[in-house]
Amino acid sequence: MKILFLFIDGVGMRRAAADNPVNPEVCPTLCRLIDKHSKSIDACLGVEGLPQSATGQATMFTGLNCAKAMGRHCEGFPGPSLRRLIEENNLFLQLKKRSLRVRFADAYLVESADELAARRYKSVTTVMALTTPEVITTADDLAEDRALMQDLTRETIQDRYPDIRVIPPQRAAEHLFALAVDSDFTLFEFFQTDVSGHSMDYARACAVLRTYDRFLSALVRMCEAAGLTIVMTADHGNIEDMSERGHTRNPVPFIAFGPGERAIRDGVESLVDVTPSLLAVFDAI
Ligand SMILES: [Zn+2]
Repeated sequence: MKILFLFIDGVGMRRAAADNPVNPEVCPTLCRLIDKHSKSIDACLGVEGLPQSATGQATMFTGLNCAKAMGRHCEGFPGPSLRRLIEENNLFLQLKKRSLRVRFADAYLVESADELAARRYKSVTTVMALTTPEVITTADDLAEDRALMQDLTRETIQDRYPDIRVIPPQRAAEHLFALAVDSDFTLFEFFQTDVSGHSMDYARACAVLRTYDRFLSALVRMCEAAGLTIVMTADHGNIEDMSERGHTRNPVPFIAFGPGERAIRDGVESLVDVTPSLLAVFDAI
């Protein structure tokens, strides 16, 4: 079994509304996957207040309720004690212990993993990737299409890397697919959804979702033909309610599409269950 995990930041489930850009006009493929291949799961984790990225993602990628462990929802970049939980329990590490081939498809614009380790602020996925440094890809990999830019099209890095050409989102899907067929587990993180959700700019949110949907549509076609399984979820809601600047307490979609999709979805009720479900599916092979 090969799993391609699409982590999409800040996308919750909410009824159709004029300020909800997650609708079939804007992102038909995402909405179809949500309709036919997903369930709504909890991202609030039994802790008051608005769910946040550091504890939400740490929970998603460790199987521990990190919001409860920290006593609150933690924003942005994990601090020392949350980092420790991630370093000891993360999904990459647990897959590696099972001798599975793991890839992290997002390129880092650094020369080496050491440069990344020296950064003061590190995201949850960066802390996780540093425990399995062989998964880290750099600008050289990006230039040779062996990694993806987090914005998919590379437009945001043209000032720094004019030699790395802009590509359509469908091409980014081809690059990701090539990585995924070569690995047991591949992760791609996309956070422009959360960034645009915070902007309260409905047109901007629609543009981001349209770009992502073109990518997703191509990816779904290729994965379906090749028998790869797509798993997709979010750390908390945001973009589905453009009337609020902050995150929401809405549930998030947990999508599984392809071989084993029912087994992957069964038993996943909140972000805590994501990593255990994936490990159980690999262990059952
Ligand atoms: Zn956010």
